[in-house]
Amino acid sequence: MHDVAIIGGGAIGLAVAWRVSAKGLTVAVVDPSPGSGASHVAAGMLAPVAEANFGEQRLLDLSRESWRRYPPFIAELEAASDHATGYVRCGAVIVARDSDENAALERDHRFRLALGLREQRLTSRECRRLEPGLAPSVRGGVLAEDDHQVDPRALMAALLAACARTGVDIVRSPATAVCVSHGRASGVQVGDAEVLTAHTTVLAAGCWSAQIPGVPRDAVPPVRPVKGQIVRLQGGSATAPVSRIVRGRDVYVVPRGDGRVVVGSTVEEHGFDTAVTAGAVYELLRDAHELVPDISEMEVTEVTAGLRPGTPDNGPVIGASTLDGLLVATGHFRNGILLAPITADAITALVIGETPPVETTPFTPARFVRGEAVVA
Ligand SMILES: Cc1cc2nc3c(=O)[nH]c(=O)nc-3n(C[C@H](O)[C@H](O)[C@H](O)COP(=O)(O)OP(=O)(O)OC[C@H]3O[C@@H](n4cnc5c(N)ncnc54)[C@H](O)[C@@H]3O)c2cc1C
Repeated sequence: MHDVAIIGGGAIGLAVAWRVSAKGLTVAVVDPSPGSGASHVAAGMLAPVAEANFGEQRLLDLSRESWRRYPPFIAELEAASDHATGYVRCGAVIVARDSDENAALERDHRFRLALGLREQRLTSRECRRLEPGLAPSVRGGVLAEDDHQVDPRALMAALLAACARTGVDIVRSPATAVCVSHGRASGVQVGDAEVLTAHTTVLAAGCWSAQIPGVPRDAVPPVRPVKGQIVRLQGGSATAPVSRIVRGRDVYVVPRGDGRVVVGSTVEEHGFDTAVTAGAVYELLRDAHELVPDISEMEVTEVTAGLRPGTPDNGPVIGASTLDGLLVATGHFRNGILLAPITADAITALVIGETPPVETTPFTPARFVRGEAVVA
């Protein structure tokens, strides 16, 4: 019997496992291939500013609070695991290619300033002075110094190592059901017959979270897969053509600091399809080249597609479900890497009987049960 059984070993499941086990509780993570889902594909931008949209104030509050928790989270994780995570305070430049985009950028900039976010408007010349690798055609931009990045694959390796040190059992098999006994979640069925009993079960299987049998209908989180294609490039030298994240309207370019660059990403409603398409790769590279021409000289090392766990209101689902003993931590859509620290803290608090961070309150599963879900 474990104190906690977690279904899914992505960034969310592993961050929860590490934080809960660090409290001295016994934890098992059930996942046939930990770290292979969306977390393996993600770019790793920690972008509460650039991702802030009109009408998403509560999601912005949640993102900013998780962003605020990132530095101590990373410091503890790197110390606990002896692994680097690629966390860099690099900042981002959001750029416009034409006057329409520049007008939209100005609108978004004013909106974010009104929210008290720290960013600075840039002329075309200032953009290029800051990042000489930007195309001369860039019309203007915004410097978002608070946007950072982490390397999600390094993060996953660090979380797995930290989990190993705190004694988390990693069960490399699919969860085939949530077990229910006397009206309460009692653990996880693994494979055909084996049952892993636990006092608390956490559903953290990303976009697959709605597919695990045994969960009562009103406790099933309304997540769906949202496909994202992404391209990885490698330069001949250790320096990338830009030093900050560059974000255009349809594309972003993330320099890793060692010559690697990530170009992403599409947002597609195609169910569980992870095929990489020529059209998407073409458009990503074309759009990225328009902003940072030198990426054309780089070697393409990988093209992949991942499935983000999307929800009807774009907000995550974090907290107690209608089934006693079953907690939910999923639906993080485009921000699961950013939101891992606050999600882990919230679930840990619920497991040990404390109050979760107030910013997570609007994102409880109950909003869907009560039909109250609105734009996050
Ligand atoms: C192209 C792309 C770019 C992105 N960029 C960013 C970014 O820059 N910043 C950011 O914050 N977020 C980004 N995201 C979003 C982020 O990747 C996700 O929100 C996050 O990875 C979700 O983590 P997760 O642990 O919930 O899910 P996943 O990482 O998908 O993990 C789910 C896990 O569940 C397991 N699983 C599935 N079925 C079962 C089962 N039956 N039993 C047991 N385990 C099971 C899978 O094997 C997997 O390991 C991006 C996503 C994509 C696709």
